[in-house]
Amino acid sequence: MVAAKNYIAGEWVTDARGPEVRAPGNLDEVLGTVPLTTTAEVEAAVEAAARAQDGWRHLSGVERGNILFRAAAVLEAHVDELGALAAREMGKPIGEARAEAARAVSIFRYYAGEGSRAIGEVIPSANATTLQFTLRVPLGVVGIITPWNFPLAIPAWKMAPALAYGNTVVLKPAEWASLTAARIIELIGPLFPPGVVNLILGKGSVVGEALVRHPAVAGISFTGSGDTGQHIAQVAVERGAKYQLEMGGKNPVIVADDADLDRVVELTVSGAMRSAGQKCTATSRVIATRGIKPRLAEALVERVRQLKQGNPLDPDTYLGPVVSAAQEEKILAMIQKGRDEGARILAGGGRADVGLRGFYIAPTVFDDVDSRMTIAQEEIFGPVVAIQEAADIEDAIRIANGVRYGLSASVFTRDLKTALLFVDRIEAGMVRVNEETAGVELQAPFGGMKASSSHSREQGRAAIEFFTHTKTVAIRP
Ligand code: NAD
Repeated sequence: MVAAKNYIAGEWVTDARGPEVRAPGNLDEVLGTVPLTTTAEVEAAVEAAARAQDGWRHLSGVERGNILFRAAAVLEAHVDELGALAAREMGKPIGEARAEAARAVSIFRYYAGEGSRAIGEVIPSANATTLQFTLRVPLGVVGIITPWNFPLAIPAWKMAPALAYGNTVVLKPAEWASLTAARIIELIGPLFPPGVVNLILGKGSVVGEALVRHPAVAGISFTGSGDTGQHIAQVAVERGAKYQLEMGGKNPVIVADDADLDRVVELTVSGAMRSAGQKCTATSRVIATRGIKPRLAEALVERVRQLKQGNPLDPDTYLGPVVSAAQEEKILAMIQKGRDEGARILAGGGRADVGLRGFYIAPTVFDDVDSRMTIAQEEIFGPVVAIQEAADIEDAIRIANGVRYGLSASVFTRDLKTALLFVDRIEAGMVRVNEETAGVELQAPFGGMKASSSHSREQGRAAIEFFTHTKTVAIRP
């Protein structure tokens, strides 16, 4: 059992005590404790990051990159351990958790390479003797606030670029992913000069809030729910801080009559049910045209009934528990709402008995779902998918766009014209053809449209836009 602490200026500190963390897949297993930190420690962490800023930003990009390469190597040596810890703490199956740990390694390696790539461009001046160029400089101290559903990859894809471009960071992970975050920092923290990487654990409403409000925090990169994101944006705007938000989704797959049914079923079930549906890019709606819908519904149900649900540490498990009692309650209430509003349950529809004490919800498929229903509009963030019927592809795209979110969307078709129409019209940041809605390569930009995002992009080269300011320099000899 681990008593997690805060990491400030290279030291593990905290006087705060907190409640026990239990494994959501096995509530009889106590994993550790997470402190309920006070705002004084947030203050100390931000001050440490501010003190470390000047030294860190004045290393060369290559020198910073070399430290990130070492961080990637240390993480790589602990992929199995990190995967197992994440699977225990937030309940995603061990195979997915290990893959996520490996992805965190690749993310660090990618941004280590950024240390030796261009940080500006030369722009011709109207004056023949003037040298005009842009230069990227770090923001300063960056606050990083992360959710629990990707406890390894999201901290990595925010911290690695922040550090590569010369920022110092204070990481505030979600309460349900704190032990995993603490282990990441334990592994990589000592590679950096003290104060460059800091960790604060505790409640979002206390320490997250204090981090966002701190005048020395120049930028806030947040991933989480829409309500928290909107609140952070307001605070950031008021005090002129730069902010970046990645939030929820209501991601559709559109299935055309000519789609490859086997492929649709495999990738829709994967998109909807892996991680028990707790991905921001999880498939939440299946919008099928009339010719294929009955066959598709039948095949989806058959496949969902075969899924092995159980202990996330069992390598054969396809889906484990959801993360917490609160999430379980929220998802069950949404399922009830679906019933009350007239949708028809084809599979699942309640808790699952897997022989362990945990937050297990049976993979659930709704049919006869109408766009006005709550389950067609609101993010559920659980193993629930809603089937809707469309008259044709144009109708399907209209239904797909009829929600306030716009993160990820797929179409399944063999027709290039249908694919191109979808690519053109769909209101989503992540647009996929014959692919599942979840998943993005780390070297490509990631982010959503509409209420899913503050419209900046993370990952790949796009990360430089948030984590730096541009200076335009004109030098006249
Ligand atoms: P959440 O908003 O409850 O919490 C996210 C983080 O914000 C946590 O670290 C939390 O402690 C912190 N927080 C809470 N209140 C705060 C406040 N007042 N000030 C500062 N920080 C505060 O979200 P969650 O339940 O952890 O995550 C699930 C949500 O995240 C879902 O809506 C999901 O769609 C979204 N998500 C989005 C993406 C994406 O990239 N778009 C990825 C993963 C998850």
